[in-house]
Amino acid sequence: MNKVYLLLGSNAGNREVLLQEAANQIADNCGKIVVESSTYQTAAWGMENQEAFLNKVLQINTQLQAEILLKNLQTIENNLGRQREVLWGPRTLDIDILFFNHEVISLPDLKVPHPFLQKRRFTLVPMAEIAPAMVHPVLHKTIAELLEECTDTLEVAKWP
Ligand code: ATP
Ligand code: CA
Ligand code: CA
Repeated sequence: MNKVYLLLGSNAGNREVLLQEAANQIADNCGKIVVESSTYQTAAWGMENQEAFLNKVLQINTQLQAEILLKNLQTIENNLGRQREVLWGPRTLDIDILFFNHEVISLPDLKVPHPFLQKRRFTLVPMAEIAPAMVHPVLHKTIAELLEECTDTLEVAKWP
């Protein structure tokens, strides 16, 4: 059984319904949701002139291999209206694999741990809520430490 952390994000459409529907489809098609963070409203990162996101982190247990899991998650994104347009642009639903056990994966279309996670408060804040003591397998620091050191100042607030 693989222990996996996923980041869900939405900044277009009915964000709350989309996150809930994504969680339902993940539970049906990928594996049991073991822990769920609060939902946070977060200022858009990377391309800042767009609507705020809702984000949350799910910890799931899955039998799926990492690449198969990624495919399933992309199918769920597409089911929920994801259009692949500009990098970091608006989207109904984004699902990123943050951690896959303590593995380091470097395939052309799958990098784990997620390469930007330590640069993003919108990822570290919900991670720190549910797994503050988890150690990053490359940076060898806990999530709490990474959050403390993170220089991102974009707003992340519990929602609603
Ligand atoms: P970012 O990855 O910086 O958050 P993004 O989520 O907007 O950007 P997408 O357009 O959703 O990027 O995904 C681009 C590609 O990233 C996907 O096609 C996927 O193959 C690849 N990818 C690499 N590592 C991961 C990962 N850990 N989780 C999800 N997708 C990943
Ligand atoms: Ca993303
Ligand atoms: Ca993504």
